[in-house]
Amino acid sequence: MSYDGDMLYIRPSYYNEFECIAGECPDTCCAGWQVDIDDAQMEKYRKMSGTLGELLKKNINEEKKCFYNDPKTDRCSFLDDDNLCILYKHAQSESVWCETCRMYPRHIEEFENVREISLGLSCPESSRILLSKKETIRFSYEEDDTEEAYDEFDYLLYDKLVEARKVLFSILQDRRFPTRKRASLSLLLTGILQQELDEDRIFDMDDTIAHFREKKGQLMDGVPVQTVSDRFKTGFAIFDRLEQLEPLRQAWKERRERARGTLYAKGEKAYGELLQAFHQEWEEGEGRREELEIIREHLLVYFVFIYFCGSVYDDQILNKMRLATFSADLLEELFIASWEENGHQLSLEDEIWITHAWCRELEHADENLNLLEDMLS
Ligand code: SF4
Repeated sequence: MSYDGDMLYIRPSYYNEFECIAGECPDTCCAGWQVDIDDAQMEKYRKMSGTLGELLKKNINEEKKCFYNDPKTDRCSFLDDDNLCILYKHAQSESVWCETCRMYPRHIEEFENVREISLGLSCPESSRILLSKKETIRFSYEEDDTEEAYDEFDYLLYDKLVEARKVLFSILQDRRFPTRKRASLSLLLTGILQQELDEDRIFDMDDTIAHFREKKGQLMDGVPVQTVSDRFKTGFAIFDRLEQLEPLRQAWKERRERARGTLYAKGEKAYGELLQAFHQEWEEGEGRREELEIIREHLLVYFVFIYFCGSVYDDQILNKMRLATFSADLLEELFIASWEENGHQLSLEDEIWITHAWCRELEHADENLNLLEDMLS
């Protein structure tokens, strides 16, 4: 925590490994949505002359302050046939980009004197980096002397959320237990914290956090294991909720609908058999079961890192944890569906595609994120 007025920057340890793979990218971020231009860059674009200035005039929607997309392909009009940025090629510098293009896929959560910076998994390269990691994800802390003061910021609650999140990470990264147990215990902790906050017992949160920190091993032993029947019902509910979200991309909609049929259309018994076959093959495959558990752990930690402390602004502590478990459960269901649909094959590339596609739907449509949070409450 930064109490002396300096700005604290928190990043996952793999943050600096990211480098855009541009033309090699399997699903460029320069297509499928509208790239908004910030006011400062818009002013610079307006002043540019010569070939670049002419290009900008033709390809910017002045009214909406965004780049035009090709109406047929929905690709940014500055994207060439090799998936490279024409603006960058002309200027030979990232300074020609608007803030969205310069920042993506970096994601920043802002708190008073704290910036939590991550790599959004909607970028396939970010997903590849995270999903390929075998080790536990750690975080780096750096400070500089930037200062800021918010009109209102609940430091007391934020402090407790930061402490709670450390305990959540230690639960979620405790590899002695299955990830489903770790997720259930995390939900239990956040459920108690939510109740204490709702009842204005904010100082009781310290005891709860300390209790889970000290007793997590014993508490984990008491967490019930989810039955196939529970999992079938949960999976059904997940896909019901997904139907209510507006899909950004047709490919995602098709994948989602196909998976629903593959997993649940034949009923609970068939679902149980599918799960058993999947786990049996993965148990037998060299280290593959462990690999899947590690991916699930990383996904839970990712979603908790990005969203959990945001509850300082809306008091929805439990919902933030539910969003993390919802996403991790959904992605595992989609991995299993993909394995079944592809003749019992599931590659890292499939896992990357599924992960980044879900994150594009979630993290690039505020309506979807808000609607999902409402549904989970
Ligand atoms: S999605 Fe990621 S890797 Fe692909 S072009 Fe965009 S930033 Fe680069």
